[in-house]
Amino acid sequence: MYFHEGDLKGKGHCNNGWVIFDDYVLVLDANFPSGAQEIIPKIKAQTNKPIRFAFDTHHHGDHAYANQLWIDNGAIPVAHENVVAEMRKYETGLFGGKPGRWEGEAKQREDLRATRLKAPTLLYRDLMIFDDGKHRVELRYFGVGHTHGDGFAWLPNERILFTGDAAVNGPFNYMGDGDSAAWIDTLAKAGKVGATVVAAGHGPAGDARVLDAQRQYFVALRAEVEKRKGLSPDRVQADVPAMRDALLTRHATYIDTSSISGFASQVAQVYREMTGNEFPKKAGMESARQSHDRHHGIPATQ
Ligand SMILES: [Zn+2]
Repeated sequence: MYFHEGDLKGKGHCNNGWVIFDDYVLVLDANFPSGAQEIIPKIKAQTNKPIRFAFDTHHHGDHAYANQLWIDNGAIPVAHENVVAEMRKYETGLFGGKPGRWEGEAKQREDLRATRLKAPTLLYRDLMIFDDGKHRVELRYFGVGHTHGDGFAWLPNERILFTGDAAVNGPFNYMGDGDSAAWIDTLAKAGKVGATVVAAGHGPAGDARVLDAQRQYFVALRAEVEKRKGLSPDRVQADVPAMRDALLTRHATYIDTSSISGFASQVAQVYREMTGNEFPKKAGMESARQSHDRHHGIPATQ
């Protein structure tokens, strides 16, 4: 199993993994096309076995938009079936509707314009197993979290869990497409597999504590919002800096101190989940998503 930390700041790339089986290679996460182009030569330098499968951990651009490129290289994109459902919701252009997220992102990214969006076509519901007798990868599903289609790759022999963005190791959480309460449960279930290495969707690989640290952060974030859920949206919004300060001491890994907008959009999301109410100025969830997808590298305009 190989783990490759993507260039998030500069190019918006996710982390990748790949596993060299007896007869083929399974790639973990498709990445953006420019990210796939970075790792394909690295895989080919290690093995001449064909790349047969590319696993999209979820539908986001930095994890799935290179599907076409993997197909061009002989691989089939694989995902939990909800990834396709999520694409039907957000990638309306792909399914004959109005332009969706891909078309929006393509305006900013040349690597997208040079290719096209493809949905995964090999789908699983609860479990898919790749096993050649020496290496085993189980594609798992633990419920709603970062999105409704978060797939995990579990390598029981090595006790490595590849999480996609269901777990990140740094201030990279985007919460707009999932559900924070369900996410807490999903992380607890993922924790039960007993991983000793957690290869997160963004940030360096870590140990089992990554899952728990992220879960604890969401528990604490929800508790801060819970205390204020009877207040008006503008009062809660005004409290965002105070909430950040309250969480910073114990959950610094997950809080971006360079800009309040990412944290503010997380608070807005939890408040929306708890009350159905929106912050007065739409709290930049769309721009948070775009920066999650496109990346922390492009100078912030918000
Ligand atoms: Zn994501």
